[in-house]
Amino acid sequence: MENCLFCKIAAGEIPSNKIYEDDKVLAFYDIEPQAPVHFLVIPKEHICCADAIDSSNSAIVAYIFEVIAKIAKELKLEKGYRIVNNCGEEGGQTVKHLHFHVLGGRLLAWPPG
Ligand code: AMP
Ligand code: ZN
Repeated sequence: MENCLFCKIAAGEIPSNKIYEDDKVLAFYDIEPQAPVHFLVIPKEHICCADAIDSSNSAIVAYIFEVIAKIAKELKLEKGYRIVNNCGEEGGQTVKHLHFHVLGGRLLAWPPG
């Protein structure tokens, strides 16, 4: 997808602080961390948002959650963490390529604003 920031990061055209990469997904630290640990996990395939998940592409979401659990163990987030997906304008999505935020390393308030 042209002019998609996260497609460019997935393709290595824009650098990122990578944590994990394979043929399907990439995990990298958020450039504006909102917690001591804040990283993003994206599919390499361009999917605009959670609202575009259907039976043809939902397997990648399950896989992303597997990768998150693996990384969380490596980063020693045993006290817990939060997985966030912002979807659409009112959901606060600014980058229109599906991504899951993983936040940890501090007590996180609930509900979010
Ligand atoms: P969202 O608001 O849910 O769409 O999240 C987009 C996230 O991408 C924000 O938390 C940004 O800080 C983060 N972000 C934007 N550009 C970059 C970048 N070049 N590298 C890493 N994270 C980024
Ligand atoms: Zn994209």
